[in-house]
Amino acid sequence: MNLSRIVDPSEKDDVIVLRPQTLDEFVGQENVRKKLSIALSAAKMRREPLDHILLVGPPGLGKTTLSQIIANELGVQIHITSGPILERQGDLASILTSLERGDVLFIDEIHRMSRSVEEILYSAVEDFQIDIMIGKGAGARSVRIPLQPFTLIGATTRAGLLTSPLRSRFGMILELVFYSSQELSEIVKKASEKLGISIDDDAAVEIGRRSRGTPRIALRLLKRVRDVATVEKMNIIDLDTVEKTMRILEIDELGLDATDRRIIKTMIEIYGGGPVGLNALAATLGMEPDTISEVYEPYLLQAGLIARTSRGRIVTDKGYRHLGYERQEKLF
Ligand code: ADP
Repeated sequence: MNLSRIVDPSEKDDVIVLRPQTLDEFVGQENVRKKLSIALSAAKMRREPLDHILLVGPPGLGKTTLSQIIANELGVQIHITSGPILERQGDLASILTSLERGDVLFIDEIHRMSRSVEEILYSAVEDFQIDIMIGKGAGARSVRIPLQPFTLIGATTRAGLLTSPLRSRFGMILELVFYSSQELSEIVKKASEKLGISIDDDAAVEIGRRSRGTPRIALRLLKRVRDVATVEKMNIIDLDTVEKTMRILEIDELGLDATDRRIIKTMIEIYGGGPVGLNALAATLGMEPDTISEVYEPYLLQAGLIARTSRGRIVTDKGYRHLGYERQEKLF
């Protein structure tokens, strides 16, 4: 088993039945839910397609789930694709022309679309029509294709990754934030019910605490804990089982795995606690800079274990304490 995968929020291995179906079932994200609920009611009352929405937030926080809930609440179909899959204009054009009135088009990692694909998306979302070139060379001609009005939902990890013309075409930009451990324990309890397993309150809270603010990780940890409970022939998951599973997975009280700890340890031992630049750190660790900044760093920053300064990343006092290091006074 690859241990680092357990806390990788971008690795999609979700169990479909665990996805909430309605906005009421969706735990947390109070602000986002309030704004969406008003927009959904208004669109339904006016019988108009919902405005285009950009969902922003780290992987595993519920962007795909929310899009499915939106389509569900509107009673329309959802078409799911992603930026890197849409290589040519034709790939997007064939999806766009298959949309029916009011449908939702969900584009995950929308910031990774190619420029030429992005260009046809502009007129699609603004005027509900696209112009595509047919043929090559002297015989090439542009054909205008009308589309049904639809709602685009884009998902991205940071709004700043989008080009500004694309960003400006969304009527609503909704930012998802990390969940509290209380909210995560609620998600764990609901999921246990759906999976038909009993879990003690303190066990659910403990899973919530170690899930890095991310429902996808909470659900994955729950499944691993369930495995241990099954092997030990327990019919209820208790705190002991959770702690035992976490020891096996090497996930500590804050939800850090071996790779997270290695990142902080390297910053302390090789770079004196920083400041260190992302590229230098990545080279020392033998990791891709993007993997550090997109997958590992958001939670380490959120947990206050590291911080970003204008001169690079530094380990905070909390980071030192968590790894069991004394901070050395710097002479310079
Ligand atoms: P993203 O698209 O942001 O990567 P997903 O929507 O795929 O995240 O969610 C990951 C997993 O977490 C799914 O299994 C989903 O059911 C669950 N999940 C996410 N948010 C919630 C929530 N607020 N309440 C309950 N389950 C959630």
